[in-house]
Amino acid sequence: MSSFEDFKLNRQFLNAIEEAGYTQPTPIQEKAIPLAMAGHDLIGIAQTGTGKTASFVLPLLMKLKYAQGKDPRAIILAPTKELVMQISENVEQLSTYTDLRHVALYGGVGPKTQLEKIEEGVDILVATPGRLMDIYSRGGLVLKHVKTMVMDEADRLMDMGFMPQIRSILEVIPSKKRQNLLFSATFPPKVEHLSEEFLEFPERVEVTPQATPVETVKQLIYEVPNFRTKVHLLEHLLQDVERFNRVIVFVNTRTTADNIFKFLERKVEGNARVIHANKGQNSRINAIKEFGEGKIRLLVATDVTARGIDIDQVSHVINFDVPHVYEDYVHRIGRTGRAYNVGEAIAFVNKAEKYYIEGIEELIRMRIPVESMPSEVPVTDTPKQENIDMERLIDKFKRKADPTFKGAFHEKKKKPSSKKVQGKAGGKKRKTKHFGRRMG
Ligand code: AMP
Repeated sequence: MSSFEDFKLNRQFLNAIEEAGYTQPTPIQEKAIPLAMAGHDLIGIAQTGTGKTASFVLPLLMKLKYAQGKDPRAIILAPTKELVMQISENVEQLSTYTDLRHVALYGGVGPKTQLEKIEEGVDILVATPGRLMDIYSRGGLVLKHVKTMVMDEADRLMDMGFMPQIRSILEVIPSKKRQNLLFSATFPPKVEHLSEEFLEFPERVEVTPQATPVETVKQLIYEVPNFRTKVHLLEHLLQDVERFNRVIVFVNTRTTADNIFKFLERKVEGNARVIHANKGQNSRINAIKEFGEGKIRLLVATDVTARGIDIDQVSHVINFDVPHVYEDYVHRIGRTGRAYNVGEAIAFVNKAEKYYIEGIEELIRMRIPVESMPSEVPVTDTPKQENIDMERLIDKFKRKADPTFKGAFHEKKKKPSSKKVQGKAGGKKRKTKHFGRRMG
């Protein structure tokens, strides 16, 4: 077991680490910090919650040491505004006892303040790729002194289609003697390609086998027949205020998010907020902040906005819907069990969603235990249309596995070769309609 002293960090960083309450390095920090400090390019496979941010921020700060010149010498790229702000806070915290300057660049607000800050002189930029290129192309930024480049959540950067901007950035920053660090929760082929383009003879460090949920998360499944019963189960679980004290409820669509939020507000103890892409930036930031401070007990979220959110001591992640993108499951449950806290991740699974669970279990290389429904939870009959939607989805899965399979609901007008799971969105929308009628 190593200590932060072993890394030969300057006193001002050790003091900041102590103040942040870190007593010993997490495994990713133990592995990545010495390599990054030695100047290597690095691939870090680590999820949010493992302490990965400090594992690149500390070597970066050590390298830059003190404020110098006017133009940035390091760039940290991240996929979302929320993550940029979070990394920026980490930089702020760990650089407290230095004069290093950093600026966060993200969209959703006018560029004026950001440009002014850059004007004042900056050592580190923490940025979304889009806003960085936007500001650069206005001529407001000199990037020729950049010697360190970090990409955080590279898998998400790829998923969100940032590759063109990343390419442009790589073209305008110096390639000579540049140190590159790439962090990603998972390592799909597209991230591998990016790393080949971006890194030189990288060292690879990995804290858990790829896409394996952090060990501190206890996962379980409830098999729930329909939407209405899911609502009952949610209400039942949340009655335990002590255990379920800080909960994120994940859903797949904005409509469901809004409906569940309204339901929680009316029926469940404690404050609730909802975050999804339709909500204003400020309302999202405030919700996350208040949730982090413990002023809010329940946060309802969709995947887009929740990625990378750094909130400590989330007691439970409830997957009200099973995510259709398997890797989102890993990211969702990464909200709980952060650093050294233990958390629980619960998924509500209907008969169609079981097929997604199979994919998820394959990805995380483990079986998620199924727990029987608490007997107090009223189980309602499945409405006809909801059942048809589920059966249709099941047919799709079966047809995917066996193209000759003819289910009860095969779509006559569609070409038999259409592979996409067409019924998904429709199914979800209908479900929320049931919800709207009954609960609204
Ligand atoms: P990250 O994976 O970077 O999002 O970090 C997850 C959380 O762990 C953040 O709240 C960090 O402040 C915290 N953290 C990072 N390193 C340590 C450490 N060595 N000991 C305790 N907490 C840490």
